Amino acid sequence: MLRGLDLNLSADQRALQREMHDWLKSNFESRFAEPTPEASRAWQRRLQEGGWGAPTWPVEHGGRGAGPIEAHLIAQELERADAPRPMTVIGIGWAGPAIIAHGSPDQKRQLLPRILDGSDLWCQLFSEPDAGSDLAGLRTRAEKKNGRWVVSGQKTWTSFAQEADLGILLARTDPSSARQAGITCFAFKMRQRGVEVRPIKQMDGRATFNEVFFDGAEAAAEEVIGEVGDGWRVAITTLMSERVGLSSGSGTLWGDGPSLGDLVELAGRTGLDARQRQRLAALKVEWEAIRLTRYRMLSRPRSAHLSSIGKLMSDRWGQKVNELAVELLGPAGLLLDTPWAQSFLFSPALTIGGGTTEIQLDILAQRVLGLPRAR
Ligand SMILES: Cc1cc2nc3c(=O)[nH]c(=O)nc-3n(C[C@H](O)[C@H](O)[C@H](O)COP(=O)(O)OP(=O)(O)OC[C@H]3O[C@@H](n4cnc5c(N)ncnc54)[C@H](O)[C@@H]3O)c2cc1C
Repeated sequence: MLRGLDLNLSADQRALQREMHDWLKSNFESRFAEPTPEASRAWQRRLQEGGWGAPTWPVEHGGRGAGPIEAHLIAQELERADAPRPMTVIGIGWAGPAIIAHGSPDQKRQLLPRILDGSDLWCQLFSEPDAGSDLAGLRTRAEKKNGRWVVSGQKTWTSFAQEADLGILLARTDPSSARQAGITCFAFKMRQRGVEVRPIKQMDGRATFNEVFFDGAEAAAEEVIGEVGDGWRVAITTLMSERVGLSSGSGTLWGDGPSLGDLVELAGRTGLDARQRQRLAALKVEWEAIRLTRYRMLSRPRSAHLSSIGKLMSDRWGQKVNELAVELLGPAGLLLDTPWAQSFLFSPALTIGGGTTEIQLDILAQRVLGLPRAR
C-alpha cells in the first residue's frame, strides 16, 4: 500500500529537522495559553526572522520553498516543542498562497511581507447565513461606484474577524450572475466604517468566530485579487490549502489540542472498564491509519480525494477521543474550565468547519466511487 513512498528521510531532510530543532531550542521560551493578537504577531515575526515564517511559500516571496514532506517535518518539530499556533494561520496558510497564485505584482509586494512579519492578521470572509456548503450561493454584493467597490451584505462563522486587519472576501460583483460566475475576491480592509463585527458566543464559553456585517464598506479597484468575476478560481486555491492545512499535527482538534497520548495518560489516572479499554485500543488503531493516510497525502498533496479521506478520518476520531476523555473524567468532565471539557465542547465543530462530513462523503461518492448523484 505504501509503495512509492519512502519513509526514510534523506540527509537533507534530517539536517532540516535538526536545524529547526536547534532554532527552537534557542528561540522559543513558552507557549501562550490563548493566542492574543500581540503574542501572535510577535511569534510570527520571530519565526520569520529565523527563516521559518512560511516554509512552503516560494523563496522569492520570503518563504523557503519547502515541499510537503519538509513542511511536515518543520510542523512536527514545532509540535514537539509545544510551540504556539498563532492567529497568523489564515494569512500564512490561506490568503498568502491565494495572493501568490493570483495577486498582482503590487499586491505581492505590499501584502506578503506584512503577513510574513505578523504586521497583518487575516480572516476568511467566505461563509454566509445561506451559503456554507453551498458557497456558490453567496449573496454579499460589491457594486462599482465612482471607481470604488461598495460592499453590502453579511458573512458568518468568520474566525478571527475581531482581530483581523484584512479579510479575503468573496462578493458578487455581477448582480445578474448565478452560482460560481460573477464572484470577485478582494483583499478587504477590516478596520473601516461600514464593517461591524459581532462575536458569536460558543458553548465552550469562547467567541472565536463572528458575524460580519457590511453596510457601505469600500474596497479599492487595486484590492481585487485576480480578475473581476473570477473570484471562484481564487477561492478554490484557498479551500484546497484549508482542507490540507486542517489535517496536520497529532492533537485532536485539527491537529491542535489534547492528543491520544494525553488520553492514555488520563486513562492511567482515572482507570477504565473493559469496554472503554477496547474503545481506547480501537482509537489507537484509527490513529495509525490516519497517520499513514497523512503520509500518503504528503506524497500527493493536491489529491482532493486523499484530503477528503484524511479530514473525514481525523475529524470523527478527534470527537471520539474527546468523548471518551470526558466520560473517563466523570463529573469532573462537566467542569467548563478544564482543558478536556473545553476541547470536548469545541469538537462538534470538527465535522462542520472546512467542509462538512456529508460534503466530503459526497465528494468521495461521486469522484472516487463514480456513484450517480442522489435522487
Ligand atoms: C470552527 C469553525 C470555524 C470556521 N471559520 C470560518 C471562517 O473563518 N471563514 C468562513 O468563511 N467560514 C468559516 N466556517 C464556516 C464553515 O466553512 C461552514 O460552517 C461550513 O462550510 C458548513 O456550512 P454551514 O455551516 O452553512 O452548513 P450548511 O451548509 O447549511 O449545512 C447544514 C447541514 O446540511 C448538510 N448539507 C448541506 N449540503 C448538503 C448536501 N449537498 N448533501 C448532503 N448534506 C448537505 C451539511 O453537511 C450540514 O450537516 C467555520 C466553521 C467552523 C465550525
